Amino acid sequence: MDVATENALRELRERDLLRAPCLSCGSNLTFQAETQQLACGHCGATQALTFSQAKLAERPLSAQLASAELPADRVSEQLLFSCPSCGSRTRVNAEQPTLSCGFCGSRAINPEAQRTRLIEPAGVLPFRLERPAATTSFRTWLAGKWLAPNKLQSGAVLDNLHGIYLPFWTFDAQAYSEWRGERGDHYYVSVSSTDSQGRPTTRQERRTDWSSRSGTHEHFYDDLLTLASRSLANQQNHVEAVLDDYDLAAVVDYDARVLLGWEAEVYSIDLAEGLEEARTTFREQEHDSCKQALGGDEQRGLRVSTTLTEESFKHLLLPLWVCAYLYQGKLYHFLVNGQTGKVSGSHPYSPWKIAFLVLLGLLLAGAVYYFVNQYQTATSVSTDYQP
Ligand SMILES: [Zn+2]
Ligand SMILES: [Zn+2]
Repeated sequence: MDVATENALRELRERDLLRAPCLSCGSNLTFQAETQQLACGHCGATQALTFSQAKLAERPLSAQLASAELPADRVSEQLLFSCPSCGSRTRVNAEQPTLSCGFCGSRAINPEAQRTRLIEPAGVLPFRLERPAATTSFRTWLAGKWLAPNKLQSGAVLDNLHGIYLPFWTFDAQAYSEWRGERGDHYYVSVSSTDSQGRPTTRQERRTDWSSRSGTHEHFYDDLLTLASRSLANQQNHVEAVLDDYDLAAVVDYDARVLLGWEAEVYSIDLAEGLEEARTTFREQEHDSCKQALGGDEQRGLRVSTTLTEESFKHLLLPLWVCAYLYQGKLYHFLVNGQTGKVSGSHPYSPWKIAFLVLLGLLLAGAVYYFVNQYQTATSVSTDYQP
């Protein structure tokens, strides 16, 4: 970095950084997921943390707040981070909540990152899973994938496994729906006719009885989570799979110290966009409930009108292990819930196992065809003897 660029950049002052120096040796303390306290990687000294849950109240959604957008020049600002441990200077993005020295790896927390956003986190779910535990979760998950190649267990090379606190919105809302539609109930009637040789026959015919119904449905939706980051946009289904597993009762008041030694992100999907997504989910779930209330064997013309009231939100940081692994030159992604260890990800399929399955399917279909044929031959034989 040339001197002119360096001088042009605003310097992150050391006193603005959040660090937790070890009282015994001066090294940086980091947050330990297993013990839920700060510990020194150098001398082993520990420092207890006490968490509170006093400030976690839901915030009501005001029109002004919901329409506030992300600052337009948000990615452009860069800062100069002078490492408090070795003195090296690294250029960092102003929106990066956790900083890591490019030279000695020493980490610090940049409280300014949260100030680039209108809404600061209300709560954080501290990591529970350390790196070895996350790796074990991944290996166990992989072992359960029996359509994966046998060599995958030994051949998968983990690439850049990192623990990151990702930004989320949670939404609450009271939904009230009025619905109207027609339900069709099946019933059977005996129909008499004559066959080609003039003999009387009866057969069962299905009819549908249509009736108009209407009703109301209400439900209070609590803590619907939506991801406020775009960094996992290509893994949306995996995000949803591990999201369900978070126990939000363990969320504590936001305390930047649990970020020490980890990575974090500020939100890149603003409240308005997150809210839009949540409202769509609420309406879809209401529609499903009303569909169920209408019932019947068939339905037509179901109309649902949903009103959402008492909408509120919280901004949270939740822990996630994000990783990829290489297998035979190809990259596969997976995520591990940083609280529970639930894994979701992609994996290669063994062509041999797939071929075997297809063959097995064909054999089964062949066997079924054979026995059905046998049965039909048998019944047609017996009918021949009927008078
Ligand atoms: Zn120490
Ligand atoms: Zn350094």
